[in-house]
Amino acid sequence: MSDALANQIAAGEVIQRPASVVKELVENSVDAGADEITVNIKDAGRTLVQVIDNGCGMSAADARMSFERHATSKIYTSDDLFCICTKGFRGEALASIAAVAEVELKTRREEDAIGTQVVINGSQFMGQNPVSTPAGTNFSVKNLFFNVPARRKFLKANSTELQHIVSEFQRIVLTHPSISFSLYHNGNIIYNLPQSTLKQRIVNVFGKNLNQELIPVEIDTSIVKISGFTGKPAASKKRSDKEFFFVNSRFMKSQYFHKAVALAYENLVRPDCIPPYFLYFEVDPHSIDVNVHPTKTEINFENASDIFRLLQAGIRETLSKSDVAPAIDFDSESDDIDVPYFSKDAPMPPMPKVSFNPFYNPFDNDSDSGSRSSSHSSMPYPSAPMPERERHNLDNWDRLYNDGIMHDDGATLADVSSSFAPKVENRLIQIKNKYIVSPSKSGIMVIDQRRAHKRVLYQQYIEKVDVNADAVQTLLYPVVLNLDVQSFAMAFDIRDEFQVVGFDMEFNEDNSIVIKGIPPYLSPDSATEVVNDIIDSYKEGHGNVSTSIKDILAIAAANREVIPYGKSLTPEEMRQLIDSLFATNAPNFSPEGEPVIVIIGMDEIEKRFTNS
Ligand code: ADP
Ligand code: MG
Repeated sequence: MSDALANQIAAGEVIQRPASVVKELVENSVDAGADEITVNIKDAGRTLVQVIDNGCGMSAADARMSFERHATSKIYTSDDLFCICTKGFRGEALASIAAVAEVELKTRREEDAIGTQVVINGSQFMGQNPVSTPAGTNFSVKNLFFNVPARRKFLKANSTELQHIVSEFQRIVLTHPSISFSLYHNGNIIYNLPQSTLKQRIVNVFGKNLNQELIPVEIDTSIVKISGFTGKPAASKKRSDKEFFFVNSRFMKSQYFHKAVALAYENLVRPDCIPPYFLYFEVDPHSIDVNVHPTKTEINFENASDIFRLLQAGIRETLSKSDVAPAIDFDSESDDIDVPYFSKDAPMPPMPKVSFNPFYNPFDNDSDSGSRSSSHSSMPYPSAPMPERERHNLDNWDRLYNDGIMHDDGATLADVSSSFAPKVENRLIQIKNKYIVSPSKSGIMVIDQRRAHKRVLYQQYIEKVDVNADAVQTLLYPVVLNLDVQSFAMAFDIRDEFQVVGFDMEFNEDNSIVIKGIPPYLSPDSATEVVNDIIDSYKEGHGNVSTSIKDILAIAAANREVIPYGKSLTPEEMRQLIDSLFATNAPNFSPEGEPVIVIIGMDEIEKRFTNS
C-alpha cells in the first residue's frame, strides 16, 4: 500500500471535518509551547483553516519530517502511549491532513535567522524553500477534501461545520487559560481571549452572565482531583451547551459522570435541567485508557465508580456549602414549645377526665358536644386561644368521633394519641383541599398535594417498569394508530424498546400501528397518548430511549391514580403523603417538572407585616 493511500485512509479516521483540522493544529501549537494562537477560518473551514502560533517552531529538516506518518517527536517509549502529557500522540495528524488538503507550512525557530516553507498537496511534496517568517509556526490548510469528493460532499451546512469548529476551539481554550487565543471566521472575529484565570476564560467564552453563576469546585482525593466550576441551580437550562469535563487537560465526553453531576443537583433543579459545569479531573495517567475512541473524547477509567461517587458527593457538598440549596427541613427546633401535644412518647401530665374534652371545637359555636365551658376553664394549660396543635387535629377528632372509635367517654388521651404520629403530623394543615401547609425551618412550607402524590406514585412506578418488564395487559379492543411516515419509522425503530416494557404492537405497511397490548399498570384509555408521547420524545432525541420510555410510562401510570385536588385528607394521610414524598429522590418537583414545594421564608412573612 502506498504511503499516500495509507495516509488517506488514516485521514478518514482522524480528519472527519474542518473542525478536526482545527483541533489537531491548535493542539500542536499548544504542545509547541505557544502562548498566543490565532485561528483563521474561511467558509467554515472548507476553503481555509489557518493556525498561527508563537511556539518553538521547527528546523527545516523537522518541518519536512513532520508530515511523515508516525513522525511524532512526542512518543519516546511505549509507556508514553499511556502517559499522554502532550495533545497529539500518534504522529499522524499532519500526514493525514496533508493527504486530503493543500497544506502550506511556514515555521521558524527563535534561534534560526531564516525560516522554512513546505508545501504539500494531497500527500504530494511540492517543494521547500527558505522564507522570512516570525518565530513560531503558521499552518494553512486549504481546500479540505479537494481530492476526496465523497468526503467533501458529506460536509454539512456551513453553520453546522462552523459550530463544530467553535466546539473544538472551546474545548481547547477552556483547558489553557494561560494561552491567548483568537478565532476569526471570514475575517470577522468570533473570539478574542486574552491570557486570564480559568474563571475569566469561561466567562470570556460564554458571556458575562455566567460570572455570577459559577461556584468554585475543589475535590481533592487520592484517586482524583477535581477542580473547576459548577453553576448555581438557578442557572440551569433544559439543554445546556456548557457541560464540560476535562481529564488531565483533555476534553472528555461522559454520560456517566454527567449523571453524577445531575444526581448532585437532584431536588435543586428541574429534573430535565442542568446548570453549566466545567470540571477538571486530574488522575494518574496510568489509570485511564484514552484509546477507546479514534477521536479520543471518550475515556475509560480504572476507578470510574469511585470517581462517580466522589464527584456526586463533592458537588453536592459544594452546593450545600455555598448556600444555594434551600433548606426544606421541617421545623424541628421549636418542638419543645409550651403546648402539650398528643404523642404517645411524650410524657403527658396527668389529666382529670372531666376537665378535658377532646371534642371541643373553638370554631363551632353551636356545638354542645361535651361540657365546653367547664373543661375550658379547668384545662391545665393556657386555654385561649386554642393551642395551635389541637386546631390542626380537629379534622381527625371528627373522623375519630364519626368512626365511633371515641364513643366511650372513658377513653384516655393516650388511646387517642396512639393514632397520631408525633410532631410533623400535628403541624399539618390542609387548605382548600389542595395544599398542605406546615411550619418549616425557614418559614412556612406549602405542598401541592396532587403533585406530591404524583411524585410518590411516579417513584413507585418507575421501579415497577423495570421489574415487570414483560407483563402485558391484552386490550379487549385493539387500538389503531395512523401515523405519518416519519413517526412510523421512528416507532418501528424502537419496537424492541416498546416490547420490553409491555407493549404488544403490530406494524403495518400503511404506516399504522395496532396496539394489542399495553403494560398492565396503564389505563387502556391512555394507550394512544402514551405511545404518541414515546414516539415524540424519541423524535426530539433527548437522551436514552429506554429511560425516556420508562419515564413516560411511569408518569402516565401516576396520572391515572393521582389524588385530585379537592380531596380532603386526614392528618394521617397527610403525614403519610409527606413521608413518602420525602422518601422519593426528587421531592421538590413533580415528574413533569412542576414545583411541589413552596417555601415562604420568614423574611417574606416579616416583610408583609412591616409594609402594611
Ligand atoms: P503529533 O502531534 O502526534 O506528534 P502531528 O502529526 O500532529 O503528530 O505532528 C507531527 C510533529 O510535527 C509533532 O510531533 C511536532 O514535532 C511537529 N509539529 C507539529 N505542529 C507543530 C507546531 N505548531 N510547532 C512546532 N512543531 C510542530
Ligand atoms: Mg498533533
